[in-house]
Amino acid sequence: MHCDTLLVLRMTGRNLDEIDAHINVEKLRRGGAMLQCFAIFTPTGPEARIYRLSESPWEYFLNTAQLFENQLQRCSAELAPMRSMAELRRNMAEGKISAMLTLEDAVCIDGDISRVQTLYDKGVRMVTLTWNYENSLAYPNSPDPELHAKGLKDFGIEAVSEMNRLGMIVDVSHLSEGGFYDVAHHSTKPFVASHSCARAVCEHSRSLTDKQLRTLADCGGVCGVNFYSAFLSPESEYSRNEEILLHMEHIVNKAGVESVALGSDFDGISCGLEMKDYAGMARLSELIAERFGADNADRILHGNALRVFGDVLN
Ligand SMILES: [Zn+2]
Repeated sequence: MHCDTLLVLRMTGRNLDEIDAHINVEKLRRGGAMLQCFAIFTPTGPEARIYRLSESPWEYFLNTAQLFENQLQRCSAELAPMRSMAELRRNMAEGKISAMLTLEDAVCIDGDISRVQTLYDKGVRMVTLTWNYENSLAYPNSPDPELHAKGLKDFGIEAVSEMNRLGMIVDVSHLSEGGFYDVAHHSTKPFVASHSCARAVCEHSRSLTDKQLRTLADCGGVCGVNFYSAFLSPESEYSRNEEILLHMEHIVNKAGVESVALGSDFDGISCGLEMKDYAGMARLSELIAERFGADNADRILHGNALRVFGDVLN
């Protein structure tokens, strides 16, 4: 449900069929991909300086949405856009891997509600409301309990209802805990944590408490497990498949098997990975089937996420 491969493409100027990243066309194929969500993550503040960006967040969004479109055209024999469930079914019938455009950090909306419609028109079907900074919608997660309790802003509530109306998936990964419960309260559609882990297994404000996981499940949503070592296990610098399975198992036990999905965060995480890259998903899929059984593996690997996408997309 989440990767930062578009950022790697932006920064290297290379293409999805030739790049040596966690994700490229060939690795998606080898890993058995049906659908990959591609996030436009917008670097701001210190990150904008690190990446030497001079565009405004809105220009960055428009330019990167164009890059996504160009890449899909270039790789059209293997990949195709997914903006509806009908497109997903068509892509599968044609033997193509679907690519869904998402936005990580709604900073580019900048208080202008009409931009939500423009995001939709450009193909965005999921919006991660914040990254790690405050924006016009909301506040990010924080180890400071007072900051973590901050809810959505009034404009954030308005934006969530506009996303509900248009059929865009609201994503609470990175969001403050107060913002999470505001989304649960105000969203009329199921929502997701596209790339988050279980806080009870590994303490981090970026991860979800058992109560949040149950609330997410009660709303019909899913949590895509993040493969980043620091979210999987305390002070770990290496991401092991077994630790990913432990987070899945915990979420299954606390919130039900219908609420677990794959988040990965490929190309957004810098740790070493036992699975190395997307091609390693083939092995993780086998391990999930061994641990949870074939029917539940189908739910975790694609069924749960597709249920939410089907519930939300128009
Ligand atoms: Zn992220």
